[in-house]
Amino acid sequence: MYDRHTDEVPPLPPAPAPVAHEPTTVERGSFCTARCGCGWYGPARRSRDRARTDAAEHLAAP
Ligand SMILES: [Zn+2]
Repeated sequence: MYDRHTDEVPPLPPAPAPVAHEPTTVERGSFCTARCGCGWYGPARRSRDRARTDAAEHLAAP
């Protein structure tokens, strides 16, 4: 395919996509945990509202 001789600088590799912070809450048994697409996850909470708060806090300060 590429058999031309190049002195050119090769194109830069595509920059990695910025991590999307999209926290969701996951229920496990009677606990609810906030998790994010970046790999972050919050502590298990007994209340989904608490998990949502954890998620909101992570969004505010990832
Ligand atoms: Zn995140």
